[in-house]
Amino acid sequence: MSRRLTDKVVIITGASSGIGAGIAVEFAKEGSKVVLVGRNVENLEKTSKLCQDQGLEKQKILTVKTDVTDEEQLARLVDATVKQFGGIDVLVNNAGAVNTGGIQDVELKQLDEMLNIHVRAVFQLTKLAIPYLVENRGSIVNVSSLQALSPGTMEFVDVTYSVAKAGLDMLTKCTALELAKKKVRCNSVNPGVVPSGLLTKSGEFTEEEVKGFYESQVSAHPLGKLGTTEDVAKAVTFLASEDSGFITGAILPIDGGRNLPIP
Ligand code: NDP
Repeated sequence: MSRRLTDKVVIITGASSGIGAGIAVEFAKEGSKVVLVGRNVENLEKTSKLCQDQGLEKQKILTVKTDVTDEEQLARLVDATVKQFGGIDVLVNNAGAVNTGGIQDVELKQLDEMLNIHVRAVFQLTKLAIPYLVENRGSIVNVSSLQALSPGTMEFVDVTYSVAKAGLDMLTKCTALELAKKKVRCNSVNPGVVPSGLLTKSGEFTEEEVKGFYESQVSAHPLGKLGTTEDVAKAVTFLASEDSGFITGAILPIDGGRNLPIP
């Protein structure tokens, strides 16, 4: 078991499913104190159980029901974390949702939703966590997307999601530059396609359609498979740890080569 992050206090938003749950499990393997954040309490408890299955003591786990788009709830989350564990070492901004379609297909409201969760919420939670991160010379890892780097394909463009994630990448770089002198690092992981509940939850696709999409995407990843939550989570713990102590402002694709231009 790796122990680079033992007893580090780690806030993980969107820990109630998918990639965020996978990230929580990786930090549990490291012996970190994890703060599991999401709206679905039952699912947060499931992630808590997964962390305990890795040998993490129950007193090192805090679940905080939070809608990250609500400023007051974010303030309560930071207060609860500091009250329970005395500070913050790592902030993982992972909570997210997806909206598909081009500018001709979607409305302004959908752009607002995407910007709210992927940029505004991350901005505010980061702002609230900074004093504690500075105190502990901590680290921020944002979960962005390959879609921040590429607008889509000839067949589909997801304008609101891509624009929001591209905004998140610039927030990562600005935060990295601003906090470098205070020795707080900020990096981004940008996954390719990782099977999770994300597409189904958007309400735009049937499970069959999602399955078909995943199958169609395998060949687009040069390493010959889709990503897993573990692939992403291992990169997150690396970026949170001192193993990456000289890396800040990085936008790191976790995508089996999906971003490479293929002739
Ligand atoms: P999931 O739908 O499985 O997870 C999304 C998580 O975000 C859930 O835990 C959900 O928790 C949480 N969440 C959503 N809205 C809110 C909110 N308002 N407040 C608090 N929590 C919220 O999807 P993924 O695991 O796939 O997505 C995780 C991140 O990875 C997202 O940022 C996504 O954009 C990104 N990503 C995913 C890719 C993929 O292919 N899966 C590819 C590239 C990036 P709850 O429902 O409990 O609120």
